[in-house]
Amino acid sequence: MSAKIIDGKAVAAKIKANLKLQIADLTSKGKTPGLAVVIVGDNPSSRKYVNMKKRACAELGVYSEEHSLSRDSTQSELLCLIDDLNQNPRIHGILVQLPLPSHLNEGQVIERIAPSKDVDGFHPISVGKLMIGIPGFISCTPAGVMELIKETGVSIEGKECVVIGRSNIVGKPQAILLLREHGTVTICHSRTPDLAACCRRADILIAAVGKPELIKGDMIKPGAVVIDVGTSVNAEGKLVGDVHFDSVSKVAGWLTPVPGGVGPMTIAMLMKNTVESALNF
Ligand code: NAP
Repeated sequence: MSAKIIDGKAVAAKIKANLKLQIADLTSKGKTPGLAVVIVGDNPSSRKYVNMKKRACAELGVYSEEHSLSRDSTQSELLCLIDDLNQNPRIHGILVQLPLPSHLNEGQVIERIAPSKDVDGFHPISVGKLMIGIPGFISCTPAGVMELIKETGVSIEGKECVVIGRSNIVGKPQAILLLREHGTVTICHSRTPDLAACCRRADILIAAVGKPELIKGDMIKPGAVVIDVGTSVNAEGKLVGDVHFDSVSKVAGWLTPVPGGVGPMTIAMLMKNTVESALNF
């Protein structure tokens, strides 16, 4: 078997094209969606992600503001900025680029964002709504993964779904989203004794670990949908996913590449959440 490749760039482009029309309509009514991006310090990966998000805003016609704070900013300076943004009528979405420098309390910062502007979907209120099935902001990466699965035409209902990783921003919300679509969901993590056996059961496998090429072809059920969220740099300095592409593509039915799979979807979903937020104001 040779897996069909799920082209995240193309799916994201389709979603963004629709959003662009919606944004133009909102702008004509004087309600341009606005996103504030907060970055603390000079972490090169954070800078790269912030630039990508700002570019997406410019491309779609979303108003964006960058608030760049120095690495030694205090918790209260950051909280004051969030308070201002919470009150700012031009801003419908607030995103604090993570990770923050270690002297800052990330949880407290996320909780300070008004839930109505929590376009990253990390606030406990957003997470709680997701858990009990009330509409709210959903974390962008797992939301993007759901769009990619939809693209395959494979129904989730009744399928064995395995999520590897249990972080608050990817693994846990991912599992809830699959459950919501009636999948039978297993969550694996670093203490799972036989990861390969769990993976082999999966009709739909989502890898969100951050370990280069951990998942090999002999861990895959033939024909499975495999979504690779992981991004890391391998020993040769190349950007790779959690999935060993060459061996897995021979067994899986569908597979996302890295880069060009989940990454572009995360940004498209951020834009979608920002537009939804503007519509709610
Ligand atoms: P994280 O917070 O570090 O979580 C990683 C998870 O993987 C943890 O739950 C950990 O288990 C589990 N894990 C570690 N080693 C394992 C192993 N050998 N077997 C099974 N599970 C193992 O990372 P994250 O924020 O969820 O991100 C995961 C990956 O996705 C990273 O590579 C990140 O860069 C990438 N990512 C990509 C995008 C995108 O847009 N493309 C967005 C977000 C994240 P424990 O809980 O037991 O420690």
